[in-house]
Amino acid sequence: MAERVFIGVAWPYANGSLHLGQIAGAYLPADIFARYHRLKGSRVLMVSGSDQHGTPITLRAEREGVKPEVVAARYHQEFLESFRRLGISFDLFTSTGTANHARVAQDFFLKLLDKGYLYQATVSQPFCPRCQRFLSDRYIEGTCPYCQAGGARGDQCDDCGKPLSPAELISPYCSFCGGAPEFRDSEHFFFRLSAFQERLLEWVRKQSHWRQNVLNFTLRYLESGLKDRAITRDIDWGVPVPLPGFEGKRLYVWFEAVIGYLSAAKEWAESGGDTERWRDYWQSGSSRGYYFIGKDNIVFHTIIWPAMLMGYGDLNLPYDVPANEFLMIEGRKLSTSRNWAVWLPDYLERYHPDPLRYLLSAAMPETSDTDFSWREFVRRNNDELVATYGNLVHRVLTFSYRNFAGAVPVPSYGAEATQLQNSCAATLKLMDESLGRCQFRLALKQAMDLAQEANRYLDEKSPWKVVKQDKQAAADALYDAISVISSLRIALYPFLPFSSQRLHEFLGFDGVIEDYGWQPSFPEPGQKLSPPQPLFTKLDEGLIEEEVSRLRQGDSG
Ligand SMILES: [Zn+2]
Ligand SMILES: [Zn+2]
Repeated sequence: MAERVFIGVAWPYANGSLHLGQIAGAYLPADIFARYHRLKGSRVLMVSGSDQHGTPITLRAEREGVKPEVVAARYHQEFLESFRRLGISFDLFTSTGTANHARVAQDFFLKLLDKGYLYQATVSQPFCPRCQRFLSDRYIEGTCPYCQAGGARGDQCDDCGKPLSPAELISPYCSFCGGAPEFRDSEHFFFRLSAFQERLLEWVRKQSHWRQNVLNFTLRYLESGLKDRAITRDIDWGVPVPLPGFEGKRLYVWFEAVIGYLSAAKEWAESGGDTERWRDYWQSGSSRGYYFIGKDNIVFHTIIWPAMLMGYGDLNLPYDVPANEFLMIEGRKLSTSRNWAVWLPDYLERYHPDPLRYLLSAAMPETSDTDFSWREFVRRNNDELVATYGNLVHRVLTFSYRNFAGAVPVPSYGAEATQLQNSCAATLKLMDESLGRCQFRLALKQAMDLAQEANRYLDEKSPWKVVKQDKQAAADALYDAISVISSLRIALYPFLPFSSQRLHEFLGFDGVIEDYGWQPSFPEPGQKLSPPQPLFTKLDEGLIEEEVSRLRQGDSG
């Protein structure tokens, strides 16, 4: 039976455009993984959606003088368009604003309540008398009680990474007006997270295949002890608490949004006409769940969501959470509030998707923070995509097309694989292991090594020189090189889907690459080629200065 892979990707807040940090952190690795698995013949379900609730959206709506739904719908549309243009191939990208999501989240709440994992308690909540509002955890700031850093938010300290609650902050202040909040009593539901401490520890200790940073962070967090967490709020934008007497309250966004992974799978099943099909990915022992997120989201995916799933029962726990570190921009920490970011819609207005996918894959922050710079963007495009890979493809295809009547040259050797063809098989095997372990940088390097090997081979064989005296020798060398190109079309498809599909057509193949499987596949000798064109375009170095000054102009930090 085909392997089943559930891929959950972080839910972006629908209050602003996507930026390259999110792409490198979660969406691109998830997409590479999904495409690789589809090629292998695995059954893949990749979902995410826009997070429509939470204070960031209501704040933006207030500033614009519109309803939160308006802001959420606008960015949801923009996300869909950005993903389409960058080739992020979701099976479903939905939102937390659907009736289905509210139903699934409320069912989750009621089941946890029924099983004794929720309880009611009175909490004292920060209220700003000047702003006349309860302050959600993100909008109360103060000094971190653990590391003494200033500007720690009520939900988390960005300096030491510790999750916080507002009452722990030293000298708290309202982040809207800077005034001192008072604390008012309010009745809320709590999730008994502490009840899962031992079960989680036992489970996490077995996850030796997790990335070291994810595993260590999770273990440290667990060993310091789990506290119960409030899962309802005094707000009116969000999923209603499904109990009488709680009409003015909503499910807290952190609790409700993670349930999106399950509600999205159910929505996907329903839209496909088989409402039970989500079970294949959530209740089958042969299905593995992967969650692609940034490192700021680890706790929710390795502790809180697994605890919620354990409490609910009969649903698969995550198999892996390959969280990425952060992407810096031109050597500086990316900041959306200071506009120190490269926004995806802007990028897509000006450049092709594949060079960005290539750069962010080659410099993916898998084990440490990495840097995006426009200089590196141009260098990788010109030196690697154009000079190493694109040039290999172009010189082989144009030469074959011109000298062998627009068809794949017929080699003198038969079915016995050549050394270079064996390298193709070996590369795909190596990449299979790397990709299966979510080591995307390594897999990309392995593919590019094969391109370099083929370039060296061609320099040595020089079919362009020998063709005059010995046409068969030229045909033999070219067929070998075409075998490599044809295999790279497969190997690089997860990373560079657009240029791989073009190459697929240049080589005279029909249909889509995903039907060809994760294996070296060579064209038939004599197969008709399509007129070749360059796969990639050299970029002018002048754009570096232009883009960097554009970035600096927007910078408000
Ligand atoms: Zn701190
Ligand atoms: Zn205030």
